[in-house]
Amino acid sequence: MSTTHDEYAWLDELNPQQREAVTYGDGPLLVVAGAGTGKTKTLAYRVAYLISQGMDPSRILLLTFTRRAAQEMLRRASGIVTRGTPGTGRVWGGTFHAIANRLLRLYHESAGLRQDFTVMDQGDAEDLLNLIRHDLGLHKMEKRFPRKRTCLSIYSRCVNASEDLELVLQSEYPWCQEWKDELRELFKLYVTRKQENNVLDFDDLLLYWVHLLSTPALATEISGRFDYVLVDEYQDTNRMQAQILGGMCTEHDNIMVVGDDAQSIYRFRGATVRNMLDFPKQFAGTTVLTLEQNYRSVMPILDTANLLISEAEDQYTKELWSERSSQQRPKLVTCKDEGEQDEFLIERILQHYEEGIPLKEQAVLFRAAYLSTSLELELTRHNIPYHKYGGLKFMEAAHVKDLIAILRLLENPRDEMAWFRVLLLMDGIGPSTAAKILDHVLANGGDPQAIGSFKAPPAARDELRAFTQMIEDLLPMGINEPAIQIERIRKFYDSLLKKTYDNASVRVRDLVSLEQIASGYASRRKFLVDLQLDPPSATADLAGPPSRDEDYLILSTIHSAKGCEWDVVYLIHATDGFLPSDMSAGSEEELEEERRLAYVALTRARDFLYVSRPLRYYHRWYGLSSPHSYMQLCRFFSRHVVPSMETVNLSRQQPRRNDMESFSEPPMDISERIRQMWDDGEVPV
Ligand code: ATP
Ligand code: MG
Repeated sequence: MSTTHDEYAWLDELNPQQREAVTYGDGPLLVVAGAGTGKTKTLAYRVAYLISQGMDPSRILLLTFTRRAAQEMLRRASGIVTRGTPGTGRVWGGTFHAIANRLLRLYHESAGLRQDFTVMDQGDAEDLLNLIRHDLGLHKMEKRFPRKRTCLSIYSRCVNASEDLELVLQSEYPWCQEWKDELRELFKLYVTRKQENNVLDFDDLLLYWVHLLSTPALATEISGRFDYVLVDEYQDTNRMQAQILGGMCTEHDNIMVVGDDAQSIYRFRGATVRNMLDFPKQFAGTTVLTLEQNYRSVMPILDTANLLISEAEDQYTKELWSERSSQQRPKLVTCKDEGEQDEFLIERILQHYEEGIPLKEQAVLFRAAYLSTSLELELTRHNIPYHKYGGLKFMEAAHVKDLIAILRLLENPRDEMAWFRVLLLMDGIGPSTAAKILDHVLANGGDPQAIGSFKAPPAARDELRAFTQMIEDLLPMGINEPAIQIERIRKFYDSLLKKTYDNASVRVRDLVSLEQIASGYASRRKFLVDLQLDPPSATADLAGPPSRDEDYLILSTIHSAKGCEWDVVYLIHATDGFLPSDMSAGSEEELEEERRLAYVALTRARDFLYVSRPLRYYHRWYGLSSPHSYMQLCRFFSRHVVPSMETVNLSRQQPRRNDMESFSEPPMDISERIRQMWDDGEVPV
């Protein structure tokens, strides 16, 4: 097609290979390309292209790794679609789990589900497994039965990798092999219990989708809803997701996936890069395209990244190259300890800020969420606002979970875990009374108001009465206006919160934030599902895109930095033990995944890259005889890689100068902004 035609002038923003992918006709297409070569951009442009060609947006399915990614791609696509054609609003965009949820609400009857099913997050799933473990008496075994988290990982691994329990135990959890029969029994009961409770865990969402598609008539119906299926980050999908895509292409084979095998970093969750390698086998007639030019990074950064990945066991042939040059090589910074690393970071962040790079264009990356604790304290001390992605989620906080549990039991009165969570907060109610209350509710047709007629122990009466009153106030609202519902719940929950947790005022603020987030939703169900499926790492994350003049530094685990890019990237704690993580240094395969993780971190940077390593680390929680240990440089920065970097040794520079000496104060609006992060204007001390 001619790109000179005005209507398609935007196609000229693409290189010839990208254009070929964007304007590709029907049939399966696999784009294998390195970091920053425009895979995601190509997908976004393809959405725009299809719509401009007159395709119905609601018949396009775009699967991404996070909700943020889907929103961003659709925003991008809507900016370029030809005027006069429909926008991207009706495109089905989201994560596999979110799309599964949407489809299961539509086809719940065929799936044997009630439409009001609720979704359990990982914590709830673990708790339910724990409960059943107790019921089975497995916790009393002489030899220790696997922990609840391990049980869930094993279960999840079997489901996601579509592998038999015996095989999974053999290859991944050999120390649990002796419990094979008990685990099978546990998982069987776990499944029944979820079904009785009308709840699905994350894995179920995909599993039910696979099962729907395995019925030919339903596969025809469901895959017939879409004409085009597009998938980003294909290297990190699991077997079940590949199976789903197969089913979604029953009625057509217009499937386009993009990925980079050198960036596969979710093996631990059952993802397999085989999906990408096997794609041409799974979809006959696949065209394979590659993109070669990196548009993201300056060449010295790519030199270091290329060297690092060239030492991988699996050879990835894509050498990244870019037309963007720079005099500056990536810096490898050796610091005496974490304190010096923090000082260095703050100095550099402010320096780049003063040179005109907003905080939002700078990101500090680390292997594990706890590695930023000390930096966070320093940032707060310096009034530098930041957002953190990955790690402990807002949704994992106990008080947030309590409030969500109340919403969940209103939504689905069979949700046992939600009931237990709330009832056990009340005086005079232990697990056996809670179970009786739940039975009573179920015996009354699942009507939560039935609590009013339950003969409660005297100690529990007042709180149960207040609870019943709240339920009576809320039920008439149905699933509408979740924010008003939360306001009412907060009134009830306030006294429970104060007696259960310390630090109540901070926690109340979280709940107010939750209420504010909910005010953007008309439906309680949609609100709950969004929260459960793609939990915000900070309240700001769900509140929609930040206003344009809001500025904050990004802190992120490397896993959560996937697909993103920033002008400046600081990879911190680049030491063996943290990267590779000593939890993942057991096998060659795990080590290789850690190497790819380092590669992902480096390839996020556009202009400046800093890799820092403290020589000494203070282990806060380990209870070691000496809490300090000396750390080796991350092994992936080998003697072949380091010469491509500029090495800076702060630990030898004596005396150290004051961290702020050479800097003027940052503009005052930073402190103003940090105040704005808290709604009532208070800054945490
Ligand atoms: P990753 O592997 O990290 O997910 P990717 O291959 O998806 O990377 P994109 O994020 O799509 O790459 O693109 C990287 C950057 O390069 C983006 O800023 C994008 O706008 C830019 N870019 C991509 N293609 C072009 C092009 N043809 N001309 C100019 N800039 C481009
Ligand atoms: Mg991408």
